[in-house]
Amino acid sequence: MPIFPFREDLLRAITQHQILVIEGETGSGKTTQIPQYLMEDVRLHSRRNEIGCTQPRRVAAMSVAARVAEETGVKLGNEVGYSIRFEDCTSERTVLKYMTDGMLLREFLTEPDLASYSVVIIDEAHERTLHTDILFGLIKDIARFRSDLKVLVASATLDTERFSCFFDDAPVFRIPGRRFPVDIFYTKAPEADYLEACVVSVLQIHVTQAPGDCLVFLTGQEEIEACCEMLQERCRRLGSKIAELVVLPIYANLPSDMQAKIFSPTPPGARKVVVATNIAETSLTIDGIIYVIDPGFCKQKSYNARTGMESLIVTPCSRASANQRAGRAGRVAAGKCFRLYTAWAFKHEMEETTIPEIQRTNLGNVVLLLKSLGINDLIHFDFMDPPPHETLVLALEQLYALGALNHLGELTKMGRRMAELPVDPMLSKMILASEQYKCSEEVLTIAAMLSVNNSIFYRPKDKVVHADNARMNFTVPGGDHLVLLNVYNQWVESGFSTQWCYENFIQFRSMRRARDVRDQLEGLMERIEVEVVSSLEDSAITAGYFYHTARLSKGGYKTVKHQQTVYVHPNSSLFEEQPGSFTNTLTPSLACNCQVIEIDSGWLLEVAPHYYKRRTRTMTLLHKLKSDVGGKETCESSFL
Ligand code: ADP
Ligand code: MG
Repeated sequence: MPIFPFREDLLRAITQHQILVIEGETGSGKTTQIPQYLMEDVRLHSRRNEIGCTQPRRVAAMSVAARVAEETGVKLGNEVGYSIRFEDCTSERTVLKYMTDGMLLREFLTEPDLASYSVVIIDEAHERTLHTDILFGLIKDIARFRSDLKVLVASATLDTERFSCFFDDAPVFRIPGRRFPVDIFYTKAPEADYLEACVVSVLQIHVTQAPGDCLVFLTGQEEIEACCEMLQERCRRLGSKIAELVVLPIYANLPSDMQAKIFSPTPPGARKVVVATNIAETSLTIDGIIYVIDPGFCKQKSYNARTGMESLIVTPCSRASANQRAGRAGRVAAGKCFRLYTAWAFKHEMEETTIPEIQRTNLGNVVLLLKSLGINDLIHFDFMDPPPHETLVLALEQLYALGALNHLGELTKMGRRMAELPVDPMLSKMILASEQYKCSEEVLTIAAMLSVNNSIFYRPKDKVVHADNARMNFTVPGGDHLVLLNVYNQWVESGFSTQWCYENFIQFRSMRRARDVRDQLEGLMERIEVEVVSSLEDSAITAGYFYHTARLSKGGYKTVKHQQTVYVHPNSSLFEEQPGSFTNTLTPSLACNCQVIEIDSGWLLEVAPHYYKRRTRTMTLLHKLKSDVGGKETCESSFL
């Protein structure tokens, strides 16, 4: 591995500098080796303090921790563990902890100086996720008074000068990369159907090209599953005319035993093809890849600060991304990258680099967290790239509307409790409001079900009719949240049965995860002293999501606040329902984009009088904020 010869140099550099930027090609050993070096080095790790290593992705944190536990011969969760939201696989003995960047951020709430860490590694820094960007600011700040804390910022060969500059000219340690040449091929004309084009390309490579494994980049689970099915189907048809093709998917919701398969060696004579999301771009390295197929797309969060709507959109990836992807083909030998777009598109239609997440996402969560840490002056927070002002203002406005901030922008008691729950502000408000409506049992279930990401209903292609019928059987009046509640309660009645899930086209894994999430949320509720009781009451949901309400009027649903037209997702149980009266109002929860519930418009006044009644005051306040934000250094407002 490229890092091996530099072990001593690296450890010396870390000893000499408090903050060090480490740059190295993907696969050079940054993530799996450096933490091990630190663990073994008494100079850097004599005390019983932890080494924390952040990853932007859940899958990467788990997978890398498993790998390092294996390399060091310990059981995962003992000396080497991981921590991701709703899943803590660490123990008293844990010395090295891989974690999502969001988890480390939450640890500031309980330990503002990160006292239990001796080294913090912010890995995959080039990804510039929202949480990583916030960590930059916070860690830079605590490093000033915790001179014993070592900070490593590890990145692929991108942007390292900027990291160095941000961290007061911290030195950059470069791990010289070994990279073999990669031939790049473009299509002559744009592809109408890139999924089909991927399948055809893989098969062409398989029958015409020399041995070597293949990596395909797609945007998400559905596409990946479709692609894998198509490949398997066509190989079956070709039968023994072609060599064996081992088709393996990798995406976030794939169970971890399936994820691990991508690393297993290819059987002799066969070819492996891994169909992956962006995760294989830099976070995970699969050995033996010679061919890369890149359709040039990725799924990106995009945020409309005017409407507060967040969505995942398939967009062309950046040139930097495309180059990283191509690089995956040249790690072990000379490789080939097949770009399923034209050379012209690469030059003229792709952005140079990906816009940092902080500039295209809802900041509600992060603003609440920073306020809880006592950081009131968000304008002067040390952002590497500041978020757009209107996004910041909207986040404050939402938190104010939810009752998390008072009119001075200070954290309220409600806000403090909301911050304790590791979920989005609207969801945490819904959970906390359930106390008042005495329906927390139900709301906890709904929150847990919402957090498992649309992966509850199983809909295999060959049994679509059965699956849809099974789903219909869960329909209850009111809306999707109540359907989810119904599914969960029936599962509980079945005694958490696997068989029951199977018969009802419900994904057992998702249900089990929902149960885990529910248990944890319940534990947190106890900690913040919310009584968990049961009754059926939808107002609590409205209390969290009143922001996202739509009213049925001529021709369709329009959001109550901005008069934007919205549509009910075809998967929703309310999709085909006949329009009722004009006061029919819906709350779509944007966390999932398709959960909708029917509400009584009167509830809006009940749960959010400050927002729906005393509108003028809200607007006045906002007006003041906006001018504050616009003004240069005159901003004294405690709101920001
Ligand atoms: P970097 O962080 O610099 O991109 P890593 O530390 O993730 O590099 O990977 C270094 C090498 O370790 C990879 O080239 C790969 O060969 C190997 N490796 C990492 N994870 C696994 C795994 N789960 N199974 C097998 N090999 C792995
Ligand atoms: Mg890495």
